[in-house]
Amino acid sequence: MRAAPRDARAGLPSVDRLMNRPEIVELIGAHGRSMVLSVAREVLAASRPQLEAVAADAALDLVQAIAARLQTLMADSLRPVLNLTGTVLHTNLGRAPLPPEALEAIARVASGASNLEFDLATGKRGERDDHVAQWLCRLTGAPASAVVNNNAAAVVLLLNALALRREVIVSRGELIELGGSFRLPDIMSRAGCRLREVGTTNRTHLRDFADAIGPQTALIMKVHASNYRIEGFTAEPDERELAALARSHGIPFVIDLGSGTLTDLTRFGLPAEPTPDQALANGADLVTFSGDKLLGGPQAGMLVGRADLIERIRRNPLKRAMRCDKLTLAALGAVLRLYSNPDRLIERVPALRQLARPRAPIEALAQRVGPAVARWLGDRAHLSIAPMFSQIGSGSLPLDTLPSFGLRIEPRATKRSAGSALGRLATQLRHLPTPVIGRVSDGALWLDLRCLDDEAAFVRLFETDITP
Ligand SMILES: *Cc1c(COP(=O)(O)O)cnc(C)c1O
Repeated sequence: MRAAPRDARAGLPSVDRLMNRPEIVELIGAHGRSMVLSVAREVLAASRPQLEAVAADAALDLVQAIAARLQTLMADSLRPVLNLTGTVLHTNLGRAPLPPEALEAIARVASGASNLEFDLATGKRGERDDHVAQWLCRLTGAPASAVVNNNAAAVVLLLNALALRREVIVSRGELIELGGSFRLPDIMSRAGCRLREVGTTNRTHLRDFADAIGPQTALIMKVHASNYRIEGFTAEPDERELAALARSHGIPFVIDLGSGTLTDLTRFGLPAEPTPDQALANGADLVTFSGDKLLGGPQAGMLVGRADLIERIRRNPLKRAMRCDKLTLAALGAVLRLYSNPDRLIERVPALRQLARPRAPIEALAQRVGPAVARWLGDRAHLSIAPMFSQIGSGSLPLDTLPSFGLRIEPRATKRSAGSALGRLATQLRHLPTPVIGRVSDGALWLDLRCLDDEAAFVRLFETDITP
């Protein structure tokens, strides 16, 4: 008779025995029995291939593995990072940072009941958008407004509410893709409208629009060229001419501004960007723009313009599916109120403060924090304080760059291994207690310090981290 093969599992404590160990009982107290049990099963299943090796001290190793896995699972997945990419309004990194007034406004309504849809004057049902509508109208000169979850939603909603089963005339040069599968032609069909393209990629004239107008036309739409620019032999009709043409046919003229800013950015030395009040003054009947781009607020989509059109938009059933939550409305209201005093915007709206930061103080900051990062790098890489260029981001003004300063880090490695050394370095920065996100370009890692606010915390990050 042959001896039965030794079962590798024999050395492994059963789940039941494991669950009775004092360390595990403590974990159950913190996380609950079913959570710990499911993690224990996962860890046991994963350790099976290595059983022969760990058989003797398996229990202790397993307990540690279970504790570590629980810690990972219980940590926040969504975490703060340092955006040193040089792109200020970085969509993947959460776009605009909120001012303290917005955080306080969120905290005030988050933990309890509020008058979100309740009119305190009459005791009757209220409209949630009304908490920000008055300010949107005041700041844009619009007679009416509505607000939804983001500008993409605002565009879908306006198309569905005003052009269902009818035609929307758009210039070929404006049939944009915004990234994340938001392509205007697809959005049009999903919203239930027919796209009527006119003109050519580089040149569209007023007569192209005029020729396309017919009984099926519901809207003339202009989409602000936010993430690209057509240069050279180009032509597009003036907004005022388009507005006049639309009006003479009784068709609404709508503009998707994309970023949209509520103040003249050139006052802060930034490139000019059209504002909703200009667009309305030029004759647009409806304008849409984002809350978390140049406005510097929470993710939201604003619709401002003619009261009868806004009324149709507010009554559309999709509006209910796209409505903002109370936290967004609280934050947006607080940010809009900051715009009451344009002279203090730079100090009060962090996105604008970062965008307007002059190069000299960023250079001084780089000089101060550079040594701590250089010490952390040791002989892994060479660090220099270098001029660089930031971008506004979120598709705003794609060709305009802002002179900035930061740290240029070049790994000390042979040419061959330089790529992987760069990747390793970027990974190590992402694994710091607060992940640091830079930009890899031209064989170096660039840390643009334009968006670095907490200098002391940044230095501590490198002084307390001991990476090999
Ligand atoms: C960014 C942008 C949008 C989408 O706005 P979100 O707020 O990101 O949904 C739509 N249109 C234009 C022109 C944009 O630039």
